[in-house]
Amino acid sequence: MLSKDISLLPYNTFGIDVKANLFVEITEIEDLVQIVKQGNLALPFFILGGGSNLLLTRDVPFLVVKNSIKGKSFNSAGLGKVLVTAGAGENWHEFVVWCLEHNFGGLENLSLIPGTVGAAPIQNIGAYGVELKDVFYSLKAVDLDSGETKIFSREDCNFGYRSSIFKQELKGRYCIVEVSFLLTSEDHIINDNYGAIKSVLNKKAVAHPGIKDIHQAVIDIRRSKLPDPSEIGNAGSFFKNPEISQNHFNKIKAIHPDVPNYPGREGLIKVPAGWLIEQCGWKGKRRGPIGCYDKQALILVNYGGGKGEKIKELSEDIAADVFETFGIKLQREVNVL
Ligand SMILES: Cc1cc2nc3c(=O)[nH]c(=O)nc-3n(C[C@H](O)[C@H](O)[C@H](O)COP(=O)(O)OP(=O)(O)OC[C@H]3O[C@@H](n4cnc5c(N)ncnc54)[C@H](O)[C@@H]3O)c2cc1C
Repeated sequence: MLSKDISLLPYNTFGIDVKANLFVEITEIEDLVQIVKQGNLALPFFILGGGSNLLLTRDVPFLVVKNSIKGKSFNSAGLGKVLVTAGAGENWHEFVVWCLEHNFGGLENLSLIPGTVGAAPIQNIGAYGVELKDVFYSLKAVDLDSGETKIFSREDCNFGYRSSIFKQELKGRYCIVEVSFLLTSEDHIINDNYGAIKSVLNKKAVAHPGIKDIHQAVIDIRRSKLPDPSEIGNAGSFFKNPEISQNHFNKIKAIHPDVPNYPGREGLIKVPAGWLIEQCGWKGKRRGPIGCYDKQALILVNYGGGKGEKIKELSEDIAADVFETFGIKLQREVNVL
């Protein structure tokens, strides 16, 4: 049922209090198809999952569709693999836990990421050495112009670093309603190369970790360093980690010999955005109710009552400072509306 002037405060992890002009919660694909096919709403659609990658800077003059389509199922794919499908409105972390309970491997490094299954392909969520695309099989989406459903393969999604076709050319064009993953049911692949995971496992004296050990290690690490949105409003990493040329990197290294770095795409060097922001002196800085998180400079926070446009302004000031100091243009990871 459509509701008018609904506060979005409970629907975004930044804790921003703005209103949606029109709001509807859908639990079935058919509900959405009907709304689209009726075609009598002059408003554009905005699809909302868990609101954990979103900065709301104003009242939203759209029809906000809260995706609560549920359901989980699996089929053996043979050769120790299983095809697992989940409704877009399933909570991501609960889905990961459910997979582990069934001894399905592949998602354990992505434990405790907030949000929904349906939003996970949008920015190709990633953490601790694994990205969604590594285990993604296909997704089903509804075209928001025609109401037709379409299946997208991994190639169709054009996944990149915190990116997909749904964040680029097809932004706002489709509502993802179902996602399928190809997981392992035996001979699991253990991704424990990430330094922090190794040190947690060493501390616990786990010499031969299984998928549940990785899951628990990731949870421990995340709980120790990321702010819990139920306590401090935030949307995780605000910016992407930039990739720069070797030449550019050498110039920075000449001044900062300890600059952290990782191999990027096509010979580029990835530099942590949090480090760049910290070097510019923003870590822990507050502007009234908002600020830059004191344990991780990449996260902007709302301590309560902060306004979205002020957080956007803060992010722009930080980005301008990083550009002036390092000549690097930071790109936002968070979707700003
Ligand atoms: C504490 C914290 C830690 C985080 N850690 C990570 C991390 O480690 N790695 C990482 O990648 N991300 C991380 N994030 C970001 C966020 O959790 C993910 O991007 C998540 O996938 C967003 O899901 P959501 O359902 O909340 O999406 P929302 O914020 O509701 O939506 C995000 C975007 O996707 C669109 N969208 C949502 N659902 C659909 C759909 N079904 N169909 C079409 N479009 C849709 C929305 O319109 C919007 O543009 C973190 C966030 C927080 C708060």
